[in-house]
Amino acid sequence: MEVYTDKTINILFKENKLELILKFFQNKIKLGEKINQSFFNRLLIGLEKNQDYETLLTSYSHASDNSCISIHEQTITIVIRTYLEINNLHDAFLTLTKLDESQIKKRTLILFFNYYYLNGKVDEIYEFYISNLKGKFVLNNEDYNKLLNVIFINNRKDLYFKLIGNIQGKKIIFEYPINTNFSINGCYLNQKNQCSNCNNKIKRINLSISERKILLSNLKNSYLTSDTDKELFKKFVKFVKNINNIKIVIDGGNILYFGDRKINFNSYHKLNLIIKKVLKKYDPKHVLLIIHNRHKTFIKKNFNSGVSQKIEDILKEWETKIKVYYTPFNMNDDWFIVYAGIIYHNSLIISNDLMKDHKFKIGQEIDFEDLFSKWVEISRIEFNFKNKKYNFNNTELSFPNSFSMRVQKNGDHYHIPSINGKWVCVHNI
Ligand SMILES: [Zn+2]
Ligand SMILES: [Zn+2]
Repeated sequence: MEVYTDKTINILFKENKLELILKFFQNKIKLGEKINQSFFNRLLIGLEKNQDYETLLTSYSHASDNSCISIHEQTITIVIRTYLEINNLHDAFLTLTKLDESQIKKRTLILFFNYYYLNGKVDEIYEFYISNLKGKFVLNNEDYNKLLNVIFINNRKDLYFKLIGNIQGKKIIFEYPINTNFSINGCYLNQKNQCSNCNNKIKRINLSISERKILLSNLKNSYLTSDTDKELFKKFVKFVKNINNIKIVIDGGNILYFGDRKINFNSYHKLNLIIKKVLKKYDPKHVLLIIHNRHKTFIKKNFNSGVSQKIEDILKEWETKIKVYYTPFNMNDDWFIVYAGIIYHNSLIISNDLMKDHKFKIGQEIDFEDLFSKWVEISRIEFNFKNKKYNFNNTELSFPNSFSMRVQKNGDHYHIPSINGKWVCVHNI
């Protein structure tokens, strides 16, 4: 019997000489010797590829019976996949019980889920989802589509309504099956976001009050570290409390730096254009501009007297028309913008900043979804100057959808977003 070192086994794998490796391991198993489990897993995967399921399963059970391998999540997963491949659900489940609950990953459980899906087992897949996946693992769009598809194809309204209670608010794009008895209404939304089938309005799903509270307290805890910062921020909080009904928060700095990435007269001109554009649609008392103090304080220092006078006139005009808050030195103006955007319910912020850094600092996962990203998604207006022409007509604002592409109940109908702007509308029973 040839004895291989790790190095030679590696070479054998590269040359795809599985039989030699198999013989080598079989001999070790016979003698009850421990075997290198990552090599063993590679061997199993090789056998799986060759569809030699019988050899795979006997090698595994011998190795396991003779204690040559330990209980290893990857090994177990390969074995389960193999059992399911040969339709042996019973042994697949038996193998799963070898893992502690804490060791079980989604990649293993989803094998059972997919098995039920492929075999159209509607009660089983639903039950499996409820008891093993829901609330424990992140399901993606494909997973939800499988679940919904089986339910629709089997015309199971009862399960549909049970499921929809569990997936409300989730971002799912359902590519529904055409050939089903399930009375699906593929519908469109009109200009007022009403469903063409039931006439109910599709909502924008906002963060709840408690979710907003979480973000605001995370913001305070991670950013306001010094006493000075806390004091200065308190002033802002007071300012905010005294002004109700802000609908638009403008990220002044982001617009000033847009394009040229530096501050010049054109920066103020751009911001002025954005404000004018906003005021076409909004009452000035609903608009708050947040801008760093340095953009006011250093005007005289940075520009010649002619230009600085012009800029100061622009600032004065803003201050008389809309609400303006100058953020203090040595503090990041983003903190103020994010705070205002969150505290004013249903308000929108104008900024091209994706705010990725803040997601890491103040974001929080709730029900497998990051709250901060969820907030940015529904709250951010992007701006642009078409063809880099800085005039009113080329100033563009892209608003977020006024409805959420999320599963929702509206009136007595349930709606699931679908592809090509369609929705699935089903009447509650
Ligand atoms: Zn509808
Ligand atoms: Zn109805």
